[in-house]
Amino acid sequence: STVDVDQVLAVASDRRRVDADQRGIALVIAGERGLQVTGDAEQLTVAVANLVENAVIYSDSDGRVVLSARRVDDFDEQGIEISVSDSGVGIDQSEVQRIFERFYRVDYARSRDTGGTGLGLAIVKHIVGTHGGEVTVWSKPGQGSTFTLRLPEAAEDLVESDDESGSEPARDRTAQEWE
Ligand code: ATP
Ligand code: MG
Repeated sequence: STVDVDQVLAVASDRRRVDADQRGIALVIAGERGLQVTGDAEQLTVAVANLVENAVIYSDSDGRVVLSARRVDDFDEQGIEISVSDSGVGIDQSEVQRIFERFYRVDYARSRDTGGTGLGLAIVKHIVGTHGGEVTVWSKPGQGSTFTLRLPEAAEDLVESDDESGSEPARDRTAQEWE
């Protein structure tokens, strides 16, 4: 079904609001509004919330986490990009390949005793994969990280056939409306 990206970002950030507040981190929603993707709203919300959770945990206090969406329509890449950026500790290039593996955690994360199990990103990768999308990461130690989900955009004709113009007969209408 069609999923509102605005809704996904709002609900995901609400779910991490308490953690962010406790650590003095601002959650900011930016980018384009009104974008839509095809898929499962709850699963996509879980994926974004996992990224926001990491962004909050692996940032120093007084940081800022930005959730943003944009439509990409280039020659070689199309879709909707949802990204979560932090100005936290960052990830060394030698570790970036491995962080999506189940149970993998970078050393400082273990030593920080944040209580994680190393499953959050494996779940993100799985959810995005079942949606026909992909997840990429940009990161620099000491500067921060940006995780980006690229998902297929909801086709406009599909969006319309959801309510009126599809092949389904309009059962709900009374006989009078048809006269
Ligand atoms: P869990 O999510 O299961 O509670 P976790 O956060 O350790 O545990 P993942 O979310 O899969 O597991 O992340 C794997 C590792 O990648 C983390 O332990 C951390 O080392 C690193 N990591 C993930 N996100 C970030 C980030 N935004 N900034 C810095 N390091 C990160
Ligand atoms: Mg995590």
